[in-house]
Amino acid sequence: MPRIDGTTRRIANMATTKKAKENKKTAPIPTWKREPGWDKLEKGEEARLEKYCAEYLRFISESKTERLVHDHLLEEARKLGFLDLDQAARAKKPLKPGTGVYRSMDGKTLLLARIGAAPLEEGLNLVGGHADCPRLDLKPCPLYQDEELVLLDTHYYGGIKHYQWLALPLALYGVVIRRDGTKVDVAIGDAPGDPVFCITDILPHLDVDQSKQTMREGVRGEKLNVVFGSRPVSKEQDDKDVPQKAKLNILRMLRETYGIEEEDFASAELEVVPAGQARELGLDRSMLLGYGQDDRVCSYAAARAVLDFQGIPRRTMGALVVDKEEIGSYGRTGMDSTFLPNSVAELVAATEKTYSDLTVRRALEHTRMLSADVGTLADPDYKGANSNGNMGRLNCGLQVNKYDGHGGKGGASDASAEFMAHVRKVFNDNKVLWQICELGKPDVGGGGTIALYMARLGIEVVDCGVGLLCMHAPWEIAGKLDVYMAYKGYSAFLANA
Ligand code: MN
Ligand code: MN
Repeated sequence: MPRIDGTTRRIANMATTKKAKENKKTAPIPTWKREPGWDKLEKGEEARLEKYCAEYLRFISESKTERLVHDHLLEEARKLGFLDLDQAARAKKPLKPGTGVYRSMDGKTLLLARIGAAPLEEGLNLVGGHADCPRLDLKPCPLYQDEELVLLDTHYYGGIKHYQWLALPLALYGVVIRRDGTKVDVAIGDAPGDPVFCITDILPHLDVDQSKQTMREGVRGEKLNVVFGSRPVSKEQDDKDVPQKAKLNILRMLRETYGIEEEDFASAELEVVPAGQARELGLDRSMLLGYGQDDRVCSYAAARAVLDFQGIPRRTMGALVVDKEEIGSYGRTGMDSTFLPNSVAELVAATEKTYSDLTVRRALEHTRMLSADVGTLADPDYKGANSNGNMGRLNCGLQVNKYDGHGGKGGASDASAEFMAHVRKVFNDNKVLWQICELGKPDVGGGGTIALYMARLGIEVVDCGVGLLCMHAPWEIAGKLDVYMAYKGYSAFLANA
């Protein structure tokens, strides 16, 4: 049977020598066990793990939207001397191996790359994750008053469980483009002294009707209205007897503070997210609790792996941080767009003497990629969903998912055994603690990632990321060892795949 090194002959030959036969009899039978990896860390590695996790906690606490993730990573890249790829491609001076470049789309989607020694037609090593997360987007006409309260009407983004968003402190982030085209950045709820916002829930004393309904029906998407204010405009500021005086007061404050008028919400992207910092979790501090770990835990690790790389990589390496994964990867900043093939074309233009479309196609077909997205973990309270023997486990290492999809692998790109062997070898050779997983029982649900959109371009790809507990909840849980292993694993893949 062919083994991981791909040669049946070598294994057959080995078995025929007398010594090999002896060794085979006395050697312990190799078994594979899924277990927490703390004792398998290398010397001094735990300190690196703690440092990385502290930096990651700060990053996700400060980067609660896809735009902020983009801006923070781009700032880091520029500080390290990364060049604008589009400009470099027009300069007609081929970039030298080792050069760092970036390419950005709409302030949301980002490619960070380092030029390798090998020609691009031999392919790239890429790790791609997403920076958008489940949240509540404001509707284009969000502001209204009902009873005494001024409320913001929302349309939820991605797969949320509605009830989880009630009675929590919430923050508001995003941009508003004013009538004259100028942009206002909004961030309210996380700075010290900031007010926060909240969605109400019915008190248990009066919830007889609600408690009879299913969890999905008990709180509908239309109910997710954010309390934004309540104080009526003062008599001095408005002597007309208009209704909705509290809404008028909010509009007055928006004009005075931000120069925003009501129609400006039509050209805005405002996102309601949980307020507060990401934290260490557990008395032993072995886990992290934070908003938006799906998928910033992977996209941050991918970006850091490219930013921290020293020297000249063999193949060109890149971290891709995309938008819109949680709503199907559509849109021009999603994975199902021209961003990646166009970026590879720009890389070819920036590194080769003459541009050729064939080189771009060859580069894509020879590219190896990790679709860096989160997986699930065995939850003791929900054992019924576990895929026995194939379930990811907390702090047992970086997860590799050969396929995702639902009910019979529907919608999965399903990596080949050969590519699995390649990835496995890279991880083993570089002492990356990893585990092979699937999402859960085949018939209880499912999910997808950006992998199929990469596979469509001819790229060899497999899903590989950090397992989470309560994925898509306002606060998600990750294990520190897994968080660090994503960084270590992506670094190994980018340098060696
Ligand atoms: Mn995800
Ligand atoms: Mn998700």
